[in-house]
Amino acid sequence: MPPRDLQHKEDIDAAQDATVKLAQALVRVPSVTPIDAKDYPAAQKSLDVAAAAGLKAGATATRQAFEGDHPKWDYKVENLVLEWSFGKPDKHICYIGHLDVVPPGDDAKWSDDPYGGRIEDGYLHGRGVTDMKGSVAAFISAIGEKLDELKASGNIKVTMILTTDEEWAAVNGTEKVLKWMKDKGEEPDAFIVGEPSSQDTLGSHIKIGRRGSLVGTFNVKGVQGHAAYQELFENPNRALSLAIAILNSKAWNDGNANFPDTNFEAVALKSGDFNASAIIPGEAQALWNIRFTPSQTPESLETWINDALANPPDWAKQHPDAALLKDVTVKANKDTASAPYYSAPGMLADSAKAAIKSTLGTDAKLDGSGGTTDGRFAAKLFPGAEIIELGLPERGGIPCGHKAQDYLSKGGMHQVDERASLDDLINLRKIFEETVSNYDRNKKPKAGPVAGPGRPPALG
Ligand SMILES: [Zn+2]
Repeated sequence: MPPRDLQHKEDIDAAQDATVKLAQALVRVPSVTPIDAKDYPAAQKSLDVAAAAGLKAGATATRQAFEGDHPKWDYKVENLVLEWSFGKPDKHICYIGHLDVVPPGDDAKWSDDPYGGRIEDGYLHGRGVTDMKGSVAAFISAIGEKLDELKASGNIKVTMILTTDEEWAAVNGTEKVLKWMKDKGEEPDAFIVGEPSSQDTLGSHIKIGRRGSLVGTFNVKGVQGHAAYQELFENPNRALSLAIAILNSKAWNDGNANFPDTNFEAVALKSGDFNASAIIPGEAQALWNIRFTPSQTPESLETWINDALANPPDWAKQHPDAALLKDVTVKANKDTASAPYYSAPGMLADSAKAAIKSTLGTDAKLDGSGGTTDGRFAAKLFPGAEIIELGLPERGGIPCGHKAQDYLSKGGMHQVDERASLDDLINLRKIFEETVSNYDRNKKPKAGPVAGPGRPPALG
């Protein structure tokens, strides 16, 4: 009689799989980002588990701890680098990942111990399994599976950078390790960021960049008064709504087939009183968010907004409220903006697409949507390298024919009851195996692909 958490035949089979076992061992370590020193030992333990698996899979392991360099987020962070060298390497591929997790939140909301690593109904359950311990386990196991073949005929260097500070400040994590690699003279040709990269279905998308994000506000002071005597007062909603209309009317056209254009969104508006229909409000405020391509910078966007309001397009100049635009105060939070990157798809994207096709029979779409990741550091430090992001589905994976309820409301990354489908874990390992093999077999292109921040993505 199998234990309660292994009821299904396929669960029992999958639990024997090396990828699932390693993912489970990693999930069982409560490695919350060590902002608080009490969490440092658990973060170290997660690296111990990965290092042991890496050594077993033929890697050499190097540990590095960094601290300081930030007035507030100076906590100590330990990192692990696993390295494999096969044949006479003429290519270097580097996987970027993290073993820290966001806290589980209220334990009582979980169906089970968030760090229990329960296997049931075709899923491995636990905080961090999707984001992104399952992906780390899949990559280590993939190299382990391919070890004999790579030893016999490979000519490639494979590196894995595993940090324990991605979910918070990321001051002493991936960026520092990449700098250390650069100082050693290492120059990876390609990076795989193992973050969740598709919404529901494994392999439906490969990320080839991420837009940057700039948040800011518009503030307008008016003069409050009786709505029937509008000539005596000044309604700030007039200037605010015209300002938003001007910014929404801008067509950026700075993306490409795989990468969305820069986009302005007013995300929250505040003014007036919904219980007082006869009062012109005294002030109005908008919160906005611009997601931007590498063609823009936070500075260029701030300048553009101020220019657009000072010198609006012709249609807005004709508007009766045009003179009120001078009352709009613009604030752009440049200090908290995150940088974009775009990596033109090349040999690595081709290798991963072919691997997905042969493993799952599906065609992956390349895209640059989603939030920011440590991929931005690789783009900054190695602007000639190709970068893709490929990992588990963000929402925890399509149910494996068992329980479909609760999908969307729980089970995804950073949600309660985080989980990963066992099929997805095993298939992701196969995809990584083939991606590395395909990349190793392909001839190195003469010129490196265009990539990196500050360079416009190729239009087309
Ligand atoms: Zn992550």
